[in-house]
Amino acid sequence: MAEIKIEHLQKTYDNGAIAVKDFNLHVKDGEFIVFVGPSGCGKSTTLRMIAGLEEITDGEFYINGKLMNEVQPKERDIAMVFQNYALYPHMSVFENIAFGLKLRKVKKQEIKKKVEDAAAILGLQPYLDKKPKVLSGGQRQRVALGRAIVRDAQVFLMDEPLSNLDAKLRVQMRAEIAKLHQRLQTTTIYVTHDQTEAMTMASRIVVMKDGLIQQVGTPKEVYDFP
Ligand code: ADP
Ligand code: ADP
Repeated sequence: MAEIKIEHLQKTYDNGAIAVKDFNLHVKDGEFIVFVGPSGCGKSTTLRMIAGLEEITDGEFYINGKLMNEVQPKERDIAMVFQNYALYPHMSVFENIAFGLKLRKVKKQEIKKKVEDAAAILGLQPYLDKKPKVLSGGQRQRVALGRAIVRDAQVFLMDEPLSNLDAKLRVQMRAEIAKLHQRLQTTTIYVTHDQTEAMTMASRIVVMKDGLIQQVGTPKEVYDFP
């Protein structure tokens, strides 16, 4: 269970670029929030501040009432999925999914169970011994999702996870991620520049422009369809 509260979040990069100006948002438990907006509007920077991968210049961000600004990324109850999968080429699918758990010194038996459960959810059982290079793009993205699932995190952050896939696979993975969210009900923030993804997946859409929120609403409210 995770509620996220973001208040007056700002980011100025060292070179003076102001990427995020005054970002305010309350995310309710289990919501699927989608950030949309043109390239350079600050979506990724906002997500990275929430993940702890980018220092916050100003403002506050809370999970379940706890101030997170100074909390180390590893200590945040957050799992992130990237566009480029970030898989380790020399490791098997099993080891890729298990990697974060091993770092956290989770017991071997528990790791095995978690990885196998995630693989079952994602249809990856036949590939556990394979290396990423023999997998299709969709399968690789499933491995990246598996890595997020086994963390049992209360918050999922996804940064353009489907933009490397071809159109047909995007449609399929969109549906899979939506199904996964229905199943796990993890509070999710999803970044994309694809309006169709936003329309079909979001419980609420945040439209950004020039480092500011322009509009927040349900897909129906934002895109005004009947
Ligand atoms: P989006 O994800 O919406 O494409 P970003 O958050 O990546 O936008 O970028 C927002 C703004 O911040 C852009 O003007 C971009 O050029 C700038 N920016 C992003 N990363 C850096 C960085 N490391 N150093 C300086 N400026 C950056
Ligand atoms: P170590 O080097 O400590 O043996 P491994 O990464 O080889 O670590 O394996 C960690 C655990 O995961 C072991 O208990 C191993 O049996 C299990 N494991 C590794 N690969 C697979 C797989 N493809 N399917 C099921 N279990 C696996």
